[in-house]
Amino acid sequence: MFVNTELLEFIRLKNPLSSVIGKYEVITNACCKCPFCHSKTNSLNLFHDEIYTCFHCGESGDVFGFVSKIENLSFAETVRKMAKASKIYTLEELKQKNIFRFWDRFLILCEHYHIAADSVLREYSSDSSELTKEYLLGLKYSKEEPDTAPLENIMQMKYGTLKEFWNAAPEHIMEYLTAERKHNA
Ligand SMILES: [Zn+2]
Repeated sequence: MFVNTELLEFIRLKNPLSSVIGKYEVITNACCKCPFCHSKTNSLNLFHDEIYTCFHCGESGDVFGFVSKIENLSFAETVRKMAKASKIYTLEELKQKNIFRFWDRFLILCEHYHIAADSVLREYSSDSSELTKEYLLGLKYSKEEPDTAPLENIMQMKYGTLKEFWNAAPEHIMEYLTAERKHNA
């Protein structure tokens, strides 16, 4: 099981603690009954929608800890299950997949122009409200086709990448880039 912090962060973003615990207990003012010790009072407290603690039985953790405990799953099983439910690719799936997504094209493009993908993203996410962390994580890990326009526009402005590049069949991508390089030479 491959896990990285980005992947966990994205799963977390998609699964606020309150919405996960809310499937089991009624939450009022960040408190609810504890599904572990079945307390009669609202002994379970949520802090910043990230950490829960029960002041009756002492049970405590984050959203992964909660799901793992209540469903009796290992950490790896929990991550896999939550990724699946949130339509997120696990790193295993990304390794095995033979589909070609926008994110892969973006990385190829950066390689082609000898630029660091990170620097492009850092440069533009500082002055563009569109390139949020969630947006970028969505491009990397989401199984749902995200809106790629913000990054497409940036690459078009900066490197003149045409729309066709993003839609080109995988086997034609390198051809496209080679032709474009000759054209500009
Ligand atoms: Zn408890």
